[in-house]
Amino acid sequence: MNFNSHTDLVVRVAVELVNALTPGEGHGRAVPPSGERAAVANSALRAVYPSHREVTEAEAGELAATAARLRAVFEAVARGDLDAAAQQVNDLLEETHARPMLERHDGEPWHLHFHGPGGTMAGDWAASCATGLAMVLGSEFGDRLGVCTAPHCDRVYVDVSRNGTRRFCSTTCQNRVKTAAFRARGRA
Ligand SMILES: [Zn+2]
Repeated sequence: MNFNSHTDLVVRVAVELVNALTPGEGHGRAVPPSGERAAVANSALRAVYPSHREVTEAEAGELAATAARLRAVFEAVARGDLDAAAQQVNDLLEETHARPMLERHDGEPWHLHFHGPGGTMAGDWAASCATGLAMVLGSEFGDRLGVCTAPHCDRVYVDVSRNGTRRFCSTTCQNRVKTAAFRARGRA
């Protein structure tokens, strides 16, 4: 996509958190899987930031609450209600005190953070994810957030394809639907 790489990463975190932590179905399986929510949150964050520090169970709870709010944005866009999506993102920006701030740490060059200093880890992610989605919604790709249309799946995605025709959360779901259609043709 045409955003800068940091925005892309933050949007990916939003997708990972929603898909890992909001209840529902992923590729025909119940989500989230049984087990510690902290472990699930850890793997979601580390899918994008491999060296992300360990998440506590309490932080995972906060991240799950944020994920539920983020999911509502994807769902609103998927049903074509961009007004509702924009309102939800604006509410989140306000509640999380999101604001841009240049920072330099850990030997990295100056780069933009989307939250002020002194916040909690989960709160900072909420501000960052809200800002990332705001940048998507405010761009020409505003309608590119989606919810998987495969049966028994409600995971979300950002469509970065050139023509914007993505309908599934993953190649797993795309292949499941293809295989089912192929079998249906065989029976016909
Ligand atoms: Zn899916």
